[in-house]
Amino acid sequence: MNPAQAATAKTADATRDATAAPPRPRQGIPGKPGPGDGRLAARLARELEGEVLFDAFSRGRYSTDASIYQIEPLGVVVPKTQADVARAVEIARDEDIPLLPRGGGTSQCGQTVGEALVLDTSKHLDKLIDFDPEARSAVVEPGLVLDRLNAFLRPHGLWFPVDVSTGSRATLGGMAGNNSCGARSIRYGLMRDNVLAIDALLADGEAVSFGELAPEALLNNRPSRARDLAARLLDVGRRYETEIEARFPKVMRRVGGYNIDALLPARENGSGDHRPPGAPANLAHLLVGSEGTLATFQRIHLKLAPLPKHRVLGVCHFPSFYEAMTATKQLVALGPSAVELVDRTMIELSRDIPLFRATVERFVRGEPQALLLVEFAGDDADDNLRRLAELSTVMADLGFPDGVVEATEPAFQSAIWDVRKQGLNIMMSMKGEGKPISFVEDCAVALDDLADYSRRLDEIFAKHGTSGTWYAHASVGTLHVRPVLNLKLDRDVKAMRAIAEECFEMVRAYKGSHSGEHGDGLVRSEFHDAMFGRPMVEAFGEVKQIFDPDARMNPGKIVNPPKMDDRALFRYKPGYRTDGADAALDWSAWGGFAGAVEMCNNNGACRKADAGVMCPSYRVTRDEQHLTRGRANSLRLALSGQLGPDALASDGMMETLKLCVSCKGCKRECPTGVDMARMKIEVLRRRAQTHGLSIRDRLVAYLPRYAPFVSKLPWLANLRNRLPPLAWLAEPLTGFSARRPLPEWSAAPFLRAGESLGPAGGREVVLLGDSFNRYFEPENLEAALEVLRAAGYRVHLPEAADGGRPLCCGRTFLSVGLVEEARSEARRLLEGLAPFVARGVPIVGLEPSCLLTLRDEFAALMPGEATERLASCSFLLEEFLAAEADAGRLKLQLAPLAQKRALLHGHCHQKAFDVMGAVERVLALVPELEVESVASSCCGMAGAFGYQAETQEVSMRMAELSLLPAVRKADAETLIVADGTSCRHQIEHGSGRGARHVARVLAAALPGRNEMELET
Ligand SMILES: Cc1cc2nc3c(=O)[nH]c(=O)nc-3n(C[C@H](O)[C@H](O)[C@H](O)COP(=O)(O)OP(=O)(O)OC[C@H]3O[C@@H](n4cnc5c(N)ncnc54)[C@H](O)[C@@H]3O)c2cc1C
Ligand code: SF4
Ligand code: SF4
Repeated sequence: MNPAQAATAKTADATRDATAAPPRPRQGIPGKPGPGDGRLAARLARELEGEVLFDAFSRGRYSTDASIYQIEPLGVVVPKTQADVARAVEIARDEDIPLLPRGGGTSQCGQTVGEALVLDTSKHLDKLIDFDPEARSAVVEPGLVLDRLNAFLRPHGLWFPVDVSTGSRATLGGMAGNNSCGARSIRYGLMRDNVLAIDALLADGEAVSFGELAPEALLNNRPSRARDLAARLLDVGRRYETEIEARFPKVMRRVGGYNIDALLPARENGSGDHRPPGAPANLAHLLVGSEGTLATFQRIHLKLAPLPKHRVLGVCHFPSFYEAMTATKQLVALGPSAVELVDRTMIELSRDIPLFRATVERFVRGEPQALLLVEFAGDDADDNLRRLAELSTVMADLGFPDGVVEATEPAFQSAIWDVRKQGLNIMMSMKGEGKPISFVEDCAVALDDLADYSRRLDEIFAKHGTSGTWYAHASVGTLHVRPVLNLKLDRDVKAMRAIAEECFEMVRAYKGSHSGEHGDGLVRSEFHDAMFGRPMVEAFGEVKQIFDPDARMNPGKIVNPPKMDDRALFRYKPGYRTDGADAALDWSAWGGFAGAVEMCNNNGACRKADAGVMCPSYRVTRDEQHLTRGRANSLRLALSGQLGPDALASDGMMETLKLCVSCKGCKRECPTGVDMARMKIEVLRRRAQTHGLSIRDRLVAYLPRYAPFVSKLPWLANLRNRLPPLAWLAEPLTGFSARRPLPEWSAAPFLRAGESLGPAGGREVVLLGDSFNRYFEPENLEAALEVLRAAGYRVHLPEAADGGRPLCCGRTFLSVGLVEEARSEARRLLEGLAPFVARGVPIVGLEPSCLLTLRDEFAALMPGEATERLASCSFLLEEFLAAEADAGRLKLQLAPLAQKRALLHGHCHQKAFDVMGAVERVLALVPELEVESVASSCCGMAGAFGYQAETQEVSMRMAELSLLPAVRKADAETLIVADGTSCRHQIEHGSGRGARHVARVLAAALPGRNEMELET
């Protein structure tokens, strides 16, 4: 499709979309386009290259950020080029509609929600435009994510040092918009201190470059918009100089209001301006922290810093929180690069999280009430160590001898930092209606006041019947704290307002800053009057007027804000109700299905592109729709009736979930534990109930039931793979892509059942077959049987209590939403295995998605003791063998293989259940075998996903992200190991290389076995 055709198609789509068609008046302004306006959408689609998203689901997905607010935008544009941005700005001017630039949408104060045309720069405008290692500078597009920039800079010994904890998804545009600050701001300053210049578009479409203002810039007589703007702004600076001096808090962390102190030459006033004294005004610094209200950034010029060569960390233990706060100033005097707080609650919560437990045990000594993580960084390793020793001395002088746990190895340090960085997320994993709410989260006070401030704020919380957990940046007087409130209740909303007023009043008395890190947005702007005073607010208004006289840019933030507790703007508006009663699975731990869906707080961790699995579909499309967050938001809106009747079973919802491969990456990696794979089952069930099942769904779901018959005629069943025209003819009927061979039916399926093999006195184990290995790759079950017998186990091959077809976990039924069928399979399996479970015999399986269903979905299908007991004795083969080896019980003799190297790809469910260590452990039992794991996300095959005609191409793109390139790079002698059936097929189809289950690798290494079976 050429661009013109594409534009026409987009126009047609936008116009066709029923939800986009009827224009609604915006904010009661008759004649102005409202949310979803079809005509506006059509115009944008006609004139822009990028995507135009005006349908109700897309608007819903862009109506929230990581704040408490929800406002439906007019629509969304995802510009493909800078020309698109310019055109969108012009159209907004022409149509007289507000504009809202957006990056990752992780703002906590409501900066990125508004009834405006949203410009999402995060998908396409993410280039590094220029990099000058000598000058230590870079020019970036606004959508570039911090961690990606830093990954590029690392080999050059440089980094962009504003290390926000959302670095995996925060864009440089958003960071500049919010004047973001990192954990090491004590050394590197805030965003404002690290931005050299910004090229921006004004609301009227004019492009202007903002940067350091050389005096001669104003002398040139030629009329210019930039000069006029500069002159007017400098005039504001001059007129308000005394007021700025008097009212800007003299703390390092001040990000509230506009940085109008940047309009004055620099001086040492400690007001958050860290330019060298005498440095000229820099107008880019005024744009930093402007939250999209002044101009749209197109290019950001950044100052880079050398990466310190060495770091050391001292974990200081305190018997009380108060003592930690009191000590902070003395520790800061040692010149650390960071001093971060972790309180008792956070320590305990982290201890409960399996991922963090071992680290916490290592760096926490005894039962401290608070920890301060003190980091020293620099090029001189000895100097760092000297300062670490000095830290111990100071701690001893303060009365805490042996109060420091030293972390000098980089891996230990980064494990500790991980716990700290996940601080908020650890807190947010709290289930139930009450949630830690961000609104007084980042006030900043002078270090001398820190202890008193935190004690008094605790008292305020207690007065309002709540409490908070403390963590974060002690070095700069910014402590994060969120009181737990239920904002669905009027009572708690009132408490929120009262706490905000009392807290800010106290902060004002301390001459601190009410907005010390996360910006103003909707939650804080209202308080500028009280905090800065009327004249300063008037100055902010003048700045806004100069840049944006028609108030087009992100209205309601910083100036002219609404009330922060206007519930009409909340995510949970008055009258918010959810329809979760009809859920088929057990969601009681979250108070129901809706409660589980509402766990998503939009923190955006699923937008990451680094290590890990979550979220494979987003990794290839970079669309908000194909993101765990986008899906959770759509579900919440659907469950609460905000997307129309029966939205859960609608086409829009199917589109939203279409690329979710049920990998469970989110179950493990989403900080709040959103398990979209399980939620998808509920949606598919509703869909099946209202729309029925397709032929393909039936073929997939009922495989375990028809397989015993079809497997009798494997040549017939495999004919489709042999005769390509047949595959093409079948595609429209079955929905399976003709470009894929389907799994081959085996002529000798593994149908053994009701037998027990191996020495009669051997330790008992059940080998539970699954439909995929049984009918398509029986050699894997044979291999597992051989390995277990060789190791001296008494292996039982279970049979159904009814003596009928083989047992099955029900996974195929769950994958299309047939929950009742899955439940009946689960019941049958429980019955068949009951005698073994009663004796505590380990149940061992090979296929991760099947076996792990016993530990996961079974609990939601049939909660109860029997299920729990089954879960507690179900293991993947590798888990069982690794545990046996660890217990010193494994008697498995293995010989070296001809192949000396194995490349291991983990199935997503293995990763979700933390099984990969066991696979590596078991492969390491093979003498001389060197194992390397591929840092891959989902292979993309994911059950039927990769075989479906409409998703086959996306499936290949997922595989091409990292897995297939790694396999292709491996030499011919390298063994490719993958335990998932789908993964092996994807690897074989995508690279032509055969991949083997770990059972076959072990079997091939049994003494006397024919290694040729492991041909690579
Ligand atoms: C769990 C969690 C932890 C956090 N930790 C930190 C932290 O350690 N330090 C910190 O400072 N913040 C933190 N934040 C807040 C937030 O992540 C940061 O402010 C982040 O930099 C925002 O980046 P973003 O890409 O998501 O921006 P967005 O939220 O999309 O946008 C931020 C602002 O910038 C504006 N903007 C975006 N692009 C442009 C553009 N092209 N032109 C003009 N304006 C633009 C937007 O309009 C908006 O006002 C945290 C948030 C969460 C949820
Ligand atoms: S799905 Fe999880 S990771 Fe993604 S935004 Fe929601 S809470 Fe964060
Ligand atoms: S299950 Fe996988 S694909 Fe689906 S939302 Fe979660 S991480 Fe993304």
